[in-house]
Amino acid sequence: MSASASQTTDPTLRPPAGRLPLVRVAGSHGEMGLQLGRDRAQQVHSMIEMYQRLFVEARAELGIANWDEAILHAHKYLPFAEESTPQYVDEMRGIAEGAGVKFDDVLVLNCMEAITSDALHLGCTSLAMGPEVTATGSVLIGHNEDWIPEDIVNVFIVHARPEKEPAYLAITYGGMLPNIGFNAYGIAQCCDSVYPGDARVGVPRILVSRGVLAARTLSEAIWAACNRRRDGGYNHLIAHESGEIYNVEVSARTFEMLHSDDGMEAHANHYLHPRMQAIEKARGDLVNSSVRMNRARRLMAAQRGTADRLTIQAILADHVNFPQSICNHIVADDTPLDRQQTIASLVIDLSARTMHVCWGTPCCNEYFAYTLEP
Ligand SMILES: [Zn+2]
Repeated sequence: MSASASQTTDPTLRPPAGRLPLVRVAGSHGEMGLQLGRDRAQQVHSMIEMYQRLFVEARAELGIANWDEAILHAHKYLPFAEESTPQYVDEMRGIAEGAGVKFDDVLVLNCMEAITSDALHLGCTSLAMGPEVTATGSVLIGHNEDWIPEDIVNVFIVHARPEKEPAYLAITYGGMLPNIGFNAYGIAQCCDSVYPGDARVGVPRILVSRGVLAARTLSEAIWAACNRRRDGGYNHLIAHESGEIYNVEVSARTFEMLHSDDGMEAHANHYLHPRMQAIEKARGDLVNSSVRMNRARRLMAAQRGTADRLTIQAILADHVNFPQSICNHIVADDTPLDRQQTIASLVIDLSARTMHVCWGTPCCNEYFAYTLEP
């Protein structure tokens, strides 16, 4: 099916406006959470209500009877978070207070992948190009955030100036802690869901990845991604302004660092390292992920030496394998747990400390620039 032929029946959701809202926060972690919650109260409420509906619609597949049971499960993860990353628990408490919702509800949102045993089958595509392959010598990072379509109304951008951590610019949604973006030390992170078979109760992976935005060096970033008490893992595509690019493939109990030797990396939702593949669940479900990643790698290779921001945007809008393409559209008859689309797309120019963000699928929406102010 060609993209154009399917557009008339494409159920993919469009964003409510062109430019994503930007929230500026500063201070202690609790204060930043409070400011976020107050400013985005409607999105926090909307996300909680949406997931409560999902828990009703997909009760059998999720294996959780209701929201109260989800809260009980989420509380198993809280002691690990309080011990290892108490500052981010403070942020969650602030978000709850600011938005006028229960802390338990915000905790469930931030433990969602763990408590549903990764029953949500969601993808993302991330890529990076270093100075040796870009036209201007910039470090460019691209990411499509593929998630539950209804969350498109809950996306926003955070410009944060924490008291004791580096300033950062990131995208997030609803009551989730920000984890995709870059910081004042020239470190960028994109996260891709992966599906290891060794998940355990531990620090929720959103809090783990939030910690990467606090890193001042590459080693600090990688150590943060591999928090020893973590509950599971993401692939963390971590790039530094020097052009160093890593895919850090993480599961609950192990990890591998894949370093780019040619200035180009891409990743989606399947492990690349054989040792990680050995513990991966359901390789068969991850065919679409392989198709997206291979396509991104090939498109990047074709632009070696001439790539710029527009090149990355074009790769992120690619429709090969539509609708399960890099620019991800809704498959009409998917189950509630499989339904997804690109809800935001971003290109980080790490050298310019600027993030260009498109709300919704990048094939038919515009990118706007946001800069981390010094
Ligand atoms: Zn598209």
